Amino acid sequence: MELRISGLSKRYPNGVQALNNISLNIPAGMFGLLGPNGAGKSTLMRTLATLQEADAGSVTFEGIDVLREKERVRELLGYLPQEFGVYPKVSALDLLNHFAVLKGINDSKKRRELVDVLLQRTNLYEARHRRLGTFSGGMKQRFGIAQALLANPKLLIVDEPTAGLDPEERLRFLNLLADLGQNIVIILSTHIVTDISDLCKQLAIVARGTVVASGDPLALVAELQGRIWQRFVASDELAAYQQSHTVLATRRAAGRLVIRVLSDSNPGAGFEPSAPDLEDVYFLAIHSTPAQAIPAAAQAS
Ligand code: ADP
Repeated sequence: MELRISGLSKRYPNGVQALNNISLNIPAGMFGLLGPNGAGKSTLMRTLATLQEADAGSVTFEGIDVLREKERVRELLGYLPQEFGVYPKVSALDLLNHFAVLKGINDSKKRRELVDVLLQRTNLYEARHRRLGTFSGGMKQRFGIAQALLANPKLLIVDEPTAGLDPEERLRFLNLLADLGQNIVIILSTHIVTDISDLCKQLAIVARGTVVASGDPLALVAELQGRIWQRFVASDELAAYQQSHTVLATRRAAGRLVIRVLSDSNPGAGFEPSAPDLEDVYFLAIHSTPAQAIPAAAQAS
């Protein structure tokens, strides 16, 4: 089972090239799509979810031409958009039951069983009689997953699900996704690096509508081994360091400013070697032009 995207491009009528020749093979399991705001993630997700048209390229999944055979895709698709609207006055149980009716699950006993199972799986069973308007952000997102699972999807697309969730809700939501198993393709788009690093065996980093890095996150991190250095700097020194070094990131640690620098050898006094992490991979990738992007940059060492 693999979702194959080849040469996918999309330009909006206002001239924005949101997708520029995207090619990716996405295997079963959790796949992370990481990129800054405006990178093209939602455009890609909506295209895969048959909600908008591409200008060029092809997408296949389970023998289906995703861009053309939209009805067939929808039969095996679960989609959780960025903003999942709910009817605030209806209970979780009633709305999920209603969606199940719309999905064509007509046998009321089977429908009830399925709805109960999904409410339990998403940890909402205890709250099933509560109106959705009283749900927290995390509960609403989990309800969104419950409705997306009604169709028993083989392809589950989840667009920026953790925005606005507190840390505990975020963790609970991500664990729920991880539990959905390795037998379906789950694409999780996010601009939060740690959403991906803990869960996804494969990822793609997109910027300006192109894939600037892709692969196994651990392998991408390993390619930067020995090349990340850091040191404390004073705020007024930062600009000079940015001129003279490849500064990937600035962080605050214990109220002081720390810069992380990419360098094949010790970049100078005061720098300590530091273990690379996925955030380093991410910042390097999004600030490189596609030709310089990792792994090419990493191979240069
Ligand atoms: P992301 O999800 O990574 O934030 P989007 O796919 O939403 O990225 O947007 C990619 C680019 O396309 C952005 O520059 C955005 O402003 C633009 N864009 C998105 N939707 C539209 C639209 N309907 N019309 C015109 N431009 C759009």
